[in-house]
Amino acid sequence: MREHNLFNQFLSILYPNFCIVCGEKTDNPYPLCNECIGKIHEIKFPYCKKCGKPLEGWGSDIDLCGECIRIPPSFKIARSGYKYEGMLKDAIHRWKYGGDRSLSILMKKLMVRALLKSDIPISHIDLLVYVPISRRTLKKRGFNQTKDMALSIGKRFSIPIYNGLKKKKGIMDQALLSREDRIRNIRGAFYLSYDFSEDVKNILIIDDVYTTGATVKEIAKLLNNTANNLDIYIFTLSRGVL
Ligand SMILES: [Zn+2]
Ligand SMILES: [Zn+2]
Repeated sequence: MREHNLFNQFLSILYPNFCIVCGEKTDNPYPLCNECIGKIHEIKFPYCKKCGKPLEGWGSDIDLCGECIRIPPSFKIARSGYKYEGMLKDAIHRWKYGGDRSLSILMKKLMVRALLKSDIPISHIDLLVYVPISRRTLKKRGFNQTKDMALSIGKRFSIPIYNGLKKKKGIMDQALLSREDRIRNIRGAFYLSYDFSEDVKNILIIDDVYTTGATVKEIAKLLNNTANNLDIYIFTLSRGVL
């Protein structure tokens, strides 16, 4: 680890990064300065106790959002670290669509920090599942951003990672679709390429952005159909609205 840090320091002298928000030079191994990172908005209570949707201005006596009352999700709880807006949104775009993998270092840090503050029972999680991307996207981007996060969370908390969740061919990117189309597009979009251990009881699904929740709900449904009595938790780096 120490050698790795030294190497990063060496790199930052050779190739200094400039913050994508304020333009200042930064020693960080990714293009965002600490001052700007400090301004990223965390999601704080009140939020829906089931899906984690922020319920600002609703008062803290409201437990569930309208959607969770109408259609109870098949996961235990979902939580997100930060609001998907402003500089975090820009940074996530650069990370995913610009293919800037150096931002994985920052996103992993933010993810672990938020996860530790959350009520996800991380010490009881038996298996981590990350959201897969299509082969075509993987080829274009060169990495799966949710797998990068899962690997570091797995390492940090000593939790095994399930690599068998796959996305079927021909499924469109959810980010391009409306709320209604997302639900239709994602139905039956995933499959498990191998079984996970029968001892697994608590699963944590990792994703970068929770928008309508259609993706993680579909994965939770698939996992629940595969094994009995699972408790499925969701944690995403950020939370958007649509
Ligand atoms: Zn900055
Ligand atoms: Zn809810």
